[in-house]
Amino acid sequence: MPYSQEIYHLAKDRLSERRQQALRTADYRREQLYKEIPTLREINNELMTIGASIAKCIVSNDNHTSIKELSERSLALQQEQKAILDDNHIDKNILEPIFTCKKCEDTGYVERDNRTEVCDCLIQLMAEIAGEQLSTNLPLQESTFDRFKLDYYSTEPDNNGKIPFNRMSNIYRYCVDYADTFSIHSKSLLMRGGTGLGKTHLSLAVANEVIKKGFSVIYVSAPEIFFKLEREHFNYRYSDQEDTFNSLVKCDLLILDDLGTEFISPFTTSCVYNLFNSRILAGKPTIINTNMQLNELIKAYSQRFVSRLIGACDRLDFIGEDIRTEK
Ligand SMILES: [Zn+2]
Repeated sequence: MPYSQEIYHLAKDRLSERRQQALRTADYRREQLYKEIPTLREINNELMTIGASIAKCIVSNDNHTSIKELSERSLALQQEQKAILDDNHIDKNILEPIFTCKKCEDTGYVERDNRTEVCDCLIQLMAEIAGEQLSTNLPLQESTFDRFKLDYYSTEPDNNGKIPFNRMSNIYRYCVDYADTFSIHSKSLLMRGGTGLGKTHLSLAVANEVIKKGFSVIYVSAPEIFFKLEREHFNYRYSDQEDTFNSLVKCDLLILDDLGTEFISPFTTSCVYNLFNSRILAGKPTIINTNMQLNELIKAYSQRFVSRLIGACDRLDFIGEDIRTEK
């Protein structure tokens, strides 16, 4: 299993809570029903007694006649129960618990070819928990599309003859549209430009909308995440490292902020490449933000990485003055 014991137990606890909740709700509904139609309670009590008697007969190897009689009585009671429910226009499933996962009934395990296997829902839950542990303290509230102010960008041409306000209006619209139409097959984005031009704000605004649609999103800053991965790697905490790396690969959208501001070492450069490449192979989008020019990226990482990046990403080049000083 690619997750640590800690995450496995947290996921199992959540599943168990789901299962208990489903059972409690079913008990409550059944109790309400029995209050309305007491005969159903009597039938249920008798069915349980019969069940126990049959079990007793089997254990004590009792004669088969009594088992046959008991089974017939049980069948008759079940038919009576069904008739009462039908007469009252009540779905017979009302007596059954409604589990979140029908395959494993929220136990986390399924039987397949006489083998017990981990259910997909448990794997999904472990990925979610590992992701939550990575993206804690996201400044999502402040970073919405509504709060993005285009007025901070100049309407005068810059040194290259480009008008920041126009460029940024286009980028803004692009991002709104990207979030609107987001799917796990969306393209990756490379947001490039100097510090304080709104890259983090717009990528978090995308995150906000994408999370609302029910996709899993992880936002990490490059210095923090590569420091974490490197520390885990050299402390030989492989299971933690696998958790971290797996979550980064598995989430629906990964936002890697401030690429290039981490301490660049052979470990981090290969990690950046592996991470981005694994996500491309998994067909999942990544938003990468960087202050670096393309030639600086090539120098810091490799031509191979930058070619892969450019091939897979739509490029958004942010221009203007640091808006944090304008504010
Ligand atoms: Zn399941």
